[in-house]
Amino acid sequence: MASQNILLLPGDGIGPEVTTAAQRVIDWFGRHGTTKFEIESDLVGGAAYDAHGEAITDAAVERAFAADAILFGAVGGPKWDDVPYEHRPEAGLLRLRKDLDLFANLRPAICYPALANASSLKKDVVEGLDILILRELTGGTYFGEPKEIVTLENGDKRAVDTQVYTTPEIARIARVAFELARTRSNKVTSMEKHNVMRSGVLWKEVVTQVHETEGYDDVKLEHVLADAGGMQLVRNPKQFDVIVTDNLFGDLLSDVASMLTGSLGMLPSASLGLPDEKTGKRYSLYEPVHGSAPDISGKGVANPIAMIASFGMCLRYSFGMVSEADMLDKAISAALASGARTGDIADGGNAMGTTEMADAIIAELESLA
Ligand code: NAD
Repeated sequence: MASQNILLLPGDGIGPEVTTAAQRVIDWFGRHGTTKFEIESDLVGGAAYDAHGEAITDAAVERAFAADAILFGAVGGPKWDDVPYEHRPEAGLLRLRKDLDLFANLRPAICYPALANASSLKKDVVEGLDILILRELTGGTYFGEPKEIVTLENGDKRAVDTQVYTTPEIARIARVAFELARTRSNKVTSMEKHNVMRSGVLWKEVVTQVHETEGYDDVKLEHVLADAGGMQLVRNPKQFDVIVTDNLFGDLLSDVASMLTGSLGMLPSASLGLPDEKTGKRYSLYEPVHGSAPDISGKGVANPIAMIASFGMCLRYSFGMVSEADMLDKAISAALASGARTGDIADGGNAMGTTEMADAIIAELESLA
């Protein structure tokens, strides 16, 4: 029997609540399929700081390197607002992204038909939406040096962030975009600002070159300026399939796309590294897009769908279990179609809790099995 080793890092706030729900779904697949899931857990974020004085321990990072995939809940909360900057809860997540070189961040934005009314946009604009934003995650403005605030001779201050990309960094994310498009609707839209940024000029040049010289001509490629792309995302989002963009623009555009789907509680994500040349194994971390939601933490009302769908992405992208991933997506869709709603997506009426939503999805898995 095949076996996959998953490291659970539930984190803080609603992180542990939605992770428990996802673990029930993992257990269901473990009981009903041909793959055994070995699960380990560790602390991250504020929980790790309270126990060990740092946002993730070296031992937990070692476990992350050894795992076949990582499922990450959420970190942070007001309790840790005043901890030293290097130990803030987010430092645990940033260390994992950096150490495992998780450069490709996949954020699908899917609007389930049953939830088309929950979006702030008109129903016909978003109903049936299924797009994927691919954000470069380890380069660009958030990491470029110099990154500093300096005091000038006259006492004024000067702040600098540096947008920097190299050819290999752009080429590897472009390849991921083309490969993903081939599993979907075969179209890639690359977004940058080549009209005003030198990094945009290089980005466009390298994406075009990879497309032309590496055998991706079966995939349609278009280039759209990132600001116009943001406008198109709210005007006519269904025109897109895979959008590939840099770290900063990807942060903004994927948050815009999140509102197309109705709630943060619905959005999964994956962060992937390069496949190992010999084994094909790639480091991967799956997490909901939402944070630790301190306002609802401990109440048992968090929507677990983003976390459960993150496990679905793990089945698809790390374990190659595509039919199981499709089945889980169908079960989520069916649970929503049958009226299952947590508070964040309820349109008035009675909302269910985290456990009941997981029950509803597992019941649909039972009937699909
Ligand atoms: P948030 O995503 O935690 O919450 C925003 C709003 O969405 C809240 O009203 C919350 O109740 C709601 N919400 C989020 N997830 C939900 C779910 N699954 N079900 C129902 N409602 C849900 O963002 P925030 O309030 O800006 O941040 C709270 C904390 O989380 C902060 O400490 C922040 O730094 C941290 N954060 C962590 C991550 C991460 O771990 N990757 C991401 C974003 C924010």
